[in-house]
Amino acid sequence: MKDSFGRELTYLRLSVTDRCNLYCLYCRVPELPRRENMTTAELAHIVNIASLAGITKVRLTGGEPALRHDIVNITKTTASTPGIAKVVMTTNGLALARLARPLAEAGLRGVNVSCDSLDAELFRNITKGGELARVLDGLRAAREAGLYVKINCVVMRGRNDHEIESMTEFACARGMDIRFIEYMPAARGDGSGIESSIHGLPGDIVRAIVAQRYELIPADALPGDGPAQTYQIAGTRTTVGFISAMSNPFCESCNRVRVTSAGKIRSCLLTGGEADLLGSIRAGASDAALLQMFQNAIDARPPVYQLYQSAPIDMRAIGG
Ligand code: SAM
Repeated sequence: MKDSFGRELTYLRLSVTDRCNLYCLYCRVPELPRRENMTTAELAHIVNIASLAGITKVRLTGGEPALRHDIVNITKTTASTPGIAKVVMTTNGLALARLARPLAEAGLRGVNVSCDSLDAELFRNITKGGELARVLDGLRAAREAGLYVKINCVVMRGRNDHEIESMTEFACARGMDIRFIEYMPAARGDGSGIESSIHGLPGDIVRAIVAQRYELIPADALPGDGPAQTYQIAGTRTTVGFISAMSNPFCESCNRVRVTSAGKIRSCLLTGGEADLLGSIRAGASDAALLQMFQNAIDARPPVYQLYQSAPIDMRAIGG
């Protein structure tokens, strides 16, 4: 399906839960009343409708997708949906030591693992208690299971920006790809509005820091990679990318649509535009009606998102 600005939509980000076992500095959404997750069958139904709408790639995200006890089954069902060529996951990596192999066997092709520091204490501070060693074990297990591995690092000025070089070195030494992500202003944990104590670093500055140490060769983005400005690091197998949602919005090439953990189809990460797909499924809507909802959501995609929101963005429900 194309949206009204001619952008072809092929990529679905599906948030399978809004629960998370970390509480990252930049993602401290107010604690919401515990919501029931969509069932495996409801997720399968949504993926099926998405494939009829022309989606070929699905990213399972959250919250933390690995917290779902049925995540291997969700992966298997998604990967075996006709028309879905690629299933990947964004995860904090804590459970990968245990799950990487069964997920790979279920048809998962790759993981993006969020890791904002290689210093165990800073990692604990950023994530409010996360154990870096488990993430590192998870990265290793993912590689051993044959999964494609990419590291996602949100750069925050004065907090982890001194690690840009060492994070890049870490990725190069392991032949993994790495993406540096600009911080997007998000909600405060107490629900009182936008967090103002965190400052991002523009992607161009992050790139300049990396380029002081490494030769960067402009590279084509990986198929479906979307927003990152990507470079090959000369003499290595590693690509480094800079995702500059704030300083350099990439809306013109956006090929993604989202379904939130509450089963709402969402036209755009920041600008919203939600329609209740799950509610319609539960009300017994026909596949044709659900497909039409998909098309309507796609038609509602704005040409460019509004960067600064009056309402907090709940990244866990939306899936980042
Ligand atoms: N639990 C998984 C994880 O840790 O990657 C998936 C969910 S997380 C919401 C998905 C992605 O959103 C992560 O890469 C995270 O770094 C990113 N993210 C969350 N809040 C963000 C913010 N305020 N600015 C930029 N990226 C953010």
